[in-house]
Amino acid sequence: MFHSLLKLSLIGLICLPLLNQSLNIEPQVIAENNNRQIILHHSSTTESEAQLKIKNLEFKISSISLPCPDDNCIIDFEIQNKKDLTDAEIETIISYQDLFQKTIVKIPYNLWQPLNKVIFSFDKNIVRGAANGNQIRLRIVNITDEEFTAVLIHELGHIADLGSLQGDTDSTKSNFPDGKIATYANDPSVKFYAAYWTNSRQIKDTDSDQQNFISGYSRTDCFEHFAETFLTYVLHSDMLKYKNPDQYNYFKDNVFNRFEYANFSKINESDFNHYFYDSTKQPYNFEGFLE
Ligand SMILES: [Zn+2]
Repeated sequence: MFHSLLKLSLIGLICLPLLNQSLNIEPQVIAENNNRQIILHHSSTTESEAQLKIKNLEFKISSISLPCPDDNCIIDFEIQNKKDLTDAEIETIISYQDLFQKTIVKIPYNLWQPLNKVIFSFDKNIVRGAANGNQIRLRIVNITDEEFTAVLIHELGHIADLGSLQGDTDSTKSNFPDGKIATYANDPSVKFYAAYWTNSRQIKDTDSDQQNFISGYSRTDCFEHFAETFLTYVLHSDMLKYKNPDQYNYFKDNVFNRFEYANFSKINESDFNHYFYDSTKQPYNFEGFLE
């Protein structure tokens, strides 16, 4: 759920030079599912080293392509925190790749266009999801399919916010930097942040009532506020319309280009005002959404 992937970026920077130096990169087809091949790549500098190193390398799964307008949406998948994969774990990866594909196509392509890498992790001790403007990490253990899809939509909210909706770099800097990364004043997200936040982490005193924050977690910072409300727009549209029509209309007009979803929420109207902490845990019609 943390939007900052500094750790992941560092791993990327450290791993890439190592891969480039490798003399031997041998893709190995280990599983097939429908027409898609799952390929694990490993690399080593010498043949003897290969024997030693193979257990220490993390697996990289081949890219998959996703339906999109220009037929050119390739996303790289990596598996983290896994030295060896059992057949059951390979099945798990394939099944979550399928669920990933079925979910992402429900979100308009322009909102996730910057996404270029997805990391699946078997680490039980990490948060369920994390994203920056162009990468997503998802935990694929100890999570139900319904929750995985909701977490993925929340992370796609970060991709939309931090990757897709961008201001002009020659416009002035806003009060809402993402860590050290500036957010520019004419970024469409700033209109949302500025209505409820004085800076990235400080809620406006006058606007602190619960109607403006769909979940407890959305009060963490303006980026989590955006992602939690994005998820609510997609899965619980009736609740967002009821609780905060201004926010509903903001997402409709500024984020989704007037595209609206049916209501998939299983939260009854009588419970719309009940406080909850985490939008991704709220019940919804999972099969209906993926149909
Ligand atoms: Zn988040």
